[in-house]
Amino acid sequence: MTPWTITMLDTGTQTQDKGVMTYLTDMGQTIQIPVSVALVEGPEKILVDTSFLSIDRTWQIRRRKIARTPAQELVAALAAAGVRPEDISIVIHTHLHYDHAGNNHLFPRARFFVQREELRYALAPTSFDASAYFAPSLGITPDYLGTKFELLDGDAQITDGVRVITTPGHTPGHQSVLVDTAGGRYCITGDAVMWYENLEKMIPPGINTSMIDCMASLARIAREADHVLPSHEPKVFARQPARFP
Ligand SMILES: [Zn+2]
Repeated sequence: MTPWTITMLDTGTQTQDKGVMTYLTDMGQTIQIPVSVALVEGPEKILVDTSFLSIDRTWQIRRRKIARTPAQELVAALAAAGVRPEDISIVIHTHLHYDHAGNNHLFPRARFFVQREELRYALAPTSFDASAYFAPSLGITPDYLGTKFELLDGDAQITDGVRVITTPGHTPGHQSVLVDTAGGRYCITGDAVMWYENLEKMIPPGINTSMIDCMASLARIAREADHVLPSHEPKVFARQPARFP
């Protein structure tokens, strides 16, 4: 087995209603959640998602309260883990929401992987979803545009010990990343599992395009992974650095 390790990087803090995380649950409770990027290290260095571009752009388009300290800038967070942007050879996008695909320009040497279905939907989503994708229908250019993508049509092996599985529901072309480590198989879930409570209580994410697909994806992740690392789970950072296994 290839000895991969995973370091979760905290690249920003969102303030939002708890019902956004767990569908129609504990609405009215305001919570703060991290915006995570996963650094996967082994024979090469892989990033899962690239966070949001900036606080200003998020406010202008999304009207979302989001914060980022200098240490949470993606380049700074990588540096704290001893990695330079040019060391990254692969970027895997779980999906193309603005807070997962805002900094692709930082990685000039990387190959970028996304599901074809996700790119297709991101470019022409329903009007309600447009701001979450910074979609062209709003008259703006999505931050990821200009990225040369390698498009996937379903489950795929990315490299030895790292593969993607389709986990639709939060978005139509969502995928999650399975990583084999010395401590078992980890799933970097993206927003298929926004935080542990989705899996613990089997509640779909509050933001979704199909509740039915969300439930099937939660079941698939529970079946295939020994451990999960959600995108927006504060408990992931209980250990510092947040390195797994
Ligand atoms: Zn999302």
